[in-house]
Amino acid sequence: MNAACCERESWVLRVEALGKRFGASWAVRGLSFAIGRGQIVALLGANGAGKTTTLAMILGLVEPSEGRITLFGHELPRERYRALHRVNFSSPYVDLPARLTVRQNLRVYAGLYGVPRPRERVVALCRELGIEELLDRPTGRLSAGQKSRVALAKALINRPQLLVLDEPTASLDPETAHWVRGWLVRYARSERAALLLASHNMQEVERMADQVLLLRRGRLWDRGRPEELLARHGRRSLEEVFLAMARADGP
Ligand code: ATP
Repeated sequence: MNAACCERESWVLRVEALGKRFGASWAVRGLSFAIGRGQIVALLGANGAGKTTTLAMILGLVEPSEGRITLFGHELPRERYRALHRVNFSSPYVDLPARLTVRQNLRVYAGLYGVPRPRERVVALCRELGIEELLDRPTGRLSAGQKSRVALAKALINRPQLLVLDEPTASLDPETAHWVRGWLVRYARSERAALLLASHNMQEVERMADQVLLLRRGRLWDRGRPEELLARHGRRSLEEVFLAMARADGP
């Protein structure tokens, strides 16, 4: 392998000076970070801080106003088709077609991603995620918690090497949420997959994230490992760091 190839593959995701403007105001500006294989990075910020906009740009759903996004060494949007099949996402704000059963929905996504042996993959994945009994239920008739586990199955169907998660445990009961977090951490470690998550759940972030990016009004306010952030800001929990950011002076 040559040096160019290794440099290309050393980061799963690189974001450089990323910005998005809606009309006169910037939702995200000057954002730079990178995620390596097997790493879990969390985006934290108040409502409107720019988390969803950032994730949407990384997924190629929103076009950046400035900056650069590189996925597996391929630059977006120009080379998106060379990279996006290795990515997947889950968001509580995106509903799967309600009339299709869980099995039908997951088969559609398995087809879209070109997953080998799709029938077996759907069943095996649902078994792993403990939702096998939902396979033949119409997706629209599931509870919010059941839907978010199905959304997670959809997000994992292609064994993504970058998994983007917006509020991954938002509607789950505490025990299921705990189980899902553990499962995701094991997935990241065993598959050496990168996870990028946005969450308002500080304990979730403390438990899962290797790196935390604190966004304030679209700009990076601070970054670091959870314990580094606690030490730097002299706080006992990430929630206290978050509140310090929320109350900080400045733009
Ligand atoms: P939340 O925690 O509430 O989900 P967020 O951190 O995900 O917030 P974004 O949804 O990224 O925040 O929004 C960032 C800013 O961009 C907000 O001020 C929002 O109003 C604005 N914004 C987002 N999408 C659009 C859009 N399509 N058109 C105009 N403004 C938008």
